[in-house]
Amino acid sequence: MVDRYKLAKKTRAEEEKKRAKVEKQDDIKEMVVKKQLLTKYNVADWKPTTILGKKVKSGEIKSLDEILAKGLKILEPQIVDFFLELSEKVVDTKKTSYVRMSGRKYSYRSTVLIGDKRGYLGIGTEKDPDKFTAVAKAARKARLNIIKVNHGCGAWECNCGTGHSIPFKVNGKCGGVKIELKPSPKGTGLVVADAIKEVFNMCNIKDVWGRGFGSTATTLNFVKAAIDALSKTNRW
Ligand SMILES: [Zn+2]
Repeated sequence: MVDRYKLAKKTRAEEEKKRAKVEKQDDIKEMVVKKQLLTKYNVADWKPTTILGKKVKSGEIKSLDEILAKGLKILEPQIVDFFLELSEKVVDTKKTSYVRMSGRKYSYRSTVLIGDKRGYLGIGTEKDPDKFTAVAKAARKARLNIIKVNHGCGAWECNCGTGHSIPFKVNGKCGGVKIELKPSPKGTGLVVADAIKEVFNMCNIKDVWGRGFGSTATTLNFVKAAIDALSKTNRW
């Protein structure tokens, strides 16, 4: 015989869990219903839940550089929106499938690139059965993975001292793709593959020489390798 008391307790706990999940993704749901192409978080009505978020809203932390220099982990996407004006682009989408007892099921994997066209970059990948939800989720993840790119002029032909290119030669890698980026003089333009030109436009690098090695037909890994290389301009 079924213990009714236990069953009722169990269902109530499950319901509460579901409700908590829905509340957590409320802002994502709003975006999906409106079918916005650009993800925007409402910073004015934001109620921070983490310690870092409360410090940002109260004004104790004044810039994103301060957070990145200390190496603190960002857990709320609104923190990034509080400081920067972002633009975003869907870099890659793919329909994936998996097999269950009931048959084949499909979901979408999408990758979103964000940047403020000055020096901040982020990339995120997420999966969901719904296309718009996958994009909104990926845009949220990209905000949490934000990095800073250092500008400079490392080309001896130019030697102008302004930040139109990168400061020195860097290498990046992701999966089977390797990439090499070199600083170039003013007026050269972006001498890289079309698949990764958007990455440099997002962080305002105008001149660069690039070379790709390996299976560069894999767009997702190619883009991630370029971002890996650019993240190394911070380390020397
Ligand atoms: Zn220069």
